[in-house]
Amino acid sequence: MTAALYTARANLSPLVLTGIMPGGLLTTTNVVENFPGFPEGIDGYELMTRLQKQAERFGARVKFATVESVDLSGETLRLTADGGPVETRCLIVASGAGHRHLGLESERLLEKKGVTYCATCDGALPVFRNQPLVVVGGGDSACEEALYLTRFASEVHLVHRRDTLRASKIMAERVLGQPKVRPVWDSVVTEILDVGQDRVTGVRLRNVKTGEERLLECAGVFVAIGHVPNTQLFRGLLDMDEAGYLELKQGAQTNIPGVFAAGDCADRVYRQAITAAGAGCAAAIEAERYLASR
Ligand code: NAP
Repeated sequence: MTAALYTARANLSPLVLTGIMPGGLLTTTNVVENFPGFPEGIDGYELMTRLQKQAERFGARVKFATVESVDLSGETLRLTADGGPVETRCLIVASGAGHRHLGLESERLLEKKGVTYCATCDGALPVFRNQPLVVVGGGDSACEEALYLTRFASEVHLVHRRDTLRASKIMAERVLGQPKVRPVWDSVVTEILDVGQDRVTGVRLRNVKTGEERLLECAGVFVAIGHVPNTQLFRGLLDMDEAGYLELKQGAQTNIPGVFAAGDCADRVYRQAITAAGAGCAAAIEAERYLASR
């Protein structure tokens, strides 16, 4: 959206193809406390709605469509979005990242039946009310999910594979100081129960230090173990590292002239709303210069 804002203000009439989740994962955050300029914090959905309005005010066109294929071989870049062709001289990839999964068969089978990746979206569902819940992960996302879920759950078990949180100090202190949150250290989920009942009744845990296994009852499992960049579409076309993050030179340039990138799809280090916005600005300026030079 920041790339759209800047390119719109440069009179480039940008077209934003939103994908299936306009505004991206940030729209699922209930409060963003660290985006500069919002001392009270701002709801993630509202932040992204405002950013869209700001871009549209200067002429950005926002279309709810998903890009299915790309042909970056010619001077004119060709995309297919929702079955229709889109041609452009310049492309900014800002496709963000999606939730990483545990990779368990039981996780896949019980998704949306008690296994979820978003507390803000699903935490208030009746099935989770006054029930013990499990959050998996040790980063800022896991802490945020755990804190949010204390509003509804009887208790929240925070299962982390080490004995220290990766999260920022302020989030870690907040979560560990919340009496409803029970940390479960050095542990991984090896199975989510109960596929037979077609709903979540608990998890099987393994202590990675002792090897000991045990069952923990819960009505829901919230997986918050990081993200995977949404770059599958560009595999083999754009340079990326082994994890799929786009590799850039001079700030925002990919290996293909006229194709730039910004945000979490190209950032394995910071992954903050504000750094994504900053990168979007940089990509837009690079794109504008590229077009002016031709
Ligand atoms: P993250 O920082 O990469 O943390 C992922 C966590 O999941 C780590 O604790 C990791 O364990 C654990 N993990 C990874 N793979 C696992 C697996 N297969 N099984 C079990 N555990 C696994 O991801 P994040 O929390 O989503 O945060 C991403 C970025 O967004 C960060 O830069 C964060 O600061 C930012 N963010 C900020 C806020 C905020 O400021 N309020 C909120 C959300 C996100 P290890 O620690 O052992 O690696």
